[in-house]
Amino acid sequence: MRLPVVAIVGRPNVGKSTLFNRIVGRREAIVDPTPGVTRDRKYVTAEWVGRRFLLVDTGGFVSGTDEPIHRAVMEQLQHGISEADLVLFLVDGRAGLTGEDEELAQMLRKSGKPVLLVANKIDTAAHEGLSAEFFRLGLGEPLPISASLGRRIGELLDEVVQRLPERVGQDGEEQETALRLAIVGRPNVGKSSLINAVLGMPKLVVTDIPGTTRDAIDTEFDYRGQRLVLVDTAGLRRKSRISAAVEYYSTQRSLRAIRRADTVAVVIDASEGLFDQDKRILDQVVQQRKGVLLVVNKWDLMPSGAKATLQFEQMVRDELRTFTYVPVLFVSAKTGRNVTQVLDVALAVDGERRKVVRTRELNQFLQEAVAQHAPPAFGTKEVKIRFCTQVNAAPPVFAFYCNYPRGVQANYQAYLEKQLRQRFGFMGVPLTLSFRRK
Ligand code: GDP
Ligand code: GDP
Repeated sequence: MRLPVVAIVGRPNVGKSTLFNRIVGRREAIVDPTPGVTRDRKYVTAEWVGRRFLLVDTGGFVSGTDEPIHRAVMEQLQHGISEADLVLFLVDGRAGLTGEDEELAQMLRKSGKPVLLVANKIDTAAHEGLSAEFFRLGLGEPLPISASLGRRIGELLDEVVQRLPERVGQDGEEQETALRLAIVGRPNVGKSSLINAVLGMPKLVVTDIPGTTRDAIDTEFDYRGQRLVLVDTAGLRRKSRISAAVEYYSTQRSLRAIRRADTVAVVIDASEGLFDQDKRILDQVVQQRKGVLLVVNKWDLMPSGAKATLQFEQMVRDELRTFTYVPVLFVSAKTGRNVTQVLDVALAVDGERRKVVRTRELNQFLQEAVAQHAPPAFGTKEVKIRFCTQVNAAPPVFAFYCNYPRGVQANYQAYLEKQLRQRFGFMGVPLTLSFRRK
């Protein structure tokens, strides 16, 4: 199941982090008056009147510069918006309408996403009149709130849950348990053949369901008592002439499918090996924190025997390096060999992705990992990581609280991740380790 995503968007200093923290009820994000402090997006699962949703603080919006860091921030923001089911567009009710607000409003109107306009810093009823001018943004009447005082936050959340789409929410059991699997890869690696091999299995009842965009068609079926949805199957099931098209369209299609899935099977052709484009697809999947498995198709064309498998797997692993946790499967869509394994492993990965490790176990693990190998000093300062807790599942996020979050070097982070995986598994699941001050 995918939770509905609510993204908080606004120019710097309007109070996004404050609102985020207010809703979460915990001080997850850094609240700081300096623009651009919350550059990374923060995710948290929130609940209101029994409806759960994923709340995302999209962080920065910067206008009018072309520096790479700013471009990266804007890309994050665009991405955040594209992922959202509802956008909370926050403006500063005290400061009044700015050019940046107008730019953002235009961007949001273009995105076609449902938007709830919220005027923040309306700390008293006397200030409420100030919010009226935001009506000019053409996004409806602004809801006046005060994030720092907690004023009218309940009303805001009522509005939010009313606007959440039914489809992705807790709308019946099916949505709860459905695994949304995307099958992606370069043209001609055998994606369509694989899908047809899967769907051709006896006793499978297959239903087409409309996806979120006009030309997206998903395919739904039950497998071993679990509901599976194959995402974006339109071009693949009815192999059209366009699907042989240029790489660009196939990339666009892949990106869309990845976005809409929980777990992604990246298919490659055994007779061709691994291309840079395959690695880029894998990068995308990992960046979006989806579950991932690598499917080596056309295995019937390869020399048989365990040794060949091992050799090929080693070759792929050497190429992949950073993706050590990705399971690799050898299948043939043509002969049907190991085709059901794709579903079995996808379900296993999905289970891992939803897994929650208890705080007590995590801290036991942290103690041992640090005892075995302490974090290197940060300049002259000793780095202490005191506490660890899993703050989100599907995708999993682990928060490590320490005295100098920026002092925890990349290779030490990699060490912790490796140890974490050794202890708790998370096969096929990209992990987020977030180092925070405490
Ligand atoms: P962000 O950069 O948009 O995430 O904004 P922050 O959450 O960091 O808030 C920016 C500044 O506005 C901080 O100094 C907050 O204390 C202040 N602020 C946030 N919400 C309110 C509010 O409801 N009323 C008032 N008066 N100040 C607020
Ligand atoms: P797509 O573009 O990724 O959807 O690839 P297709 O499913 O259309 O397959 C491309 C070509 O590879 C077709 O000629 C298929 O018959 C062939 N093919 C697909 N899977 C296999 C396989 O497992 N073994 C062999 N030998 N050929 C395959």
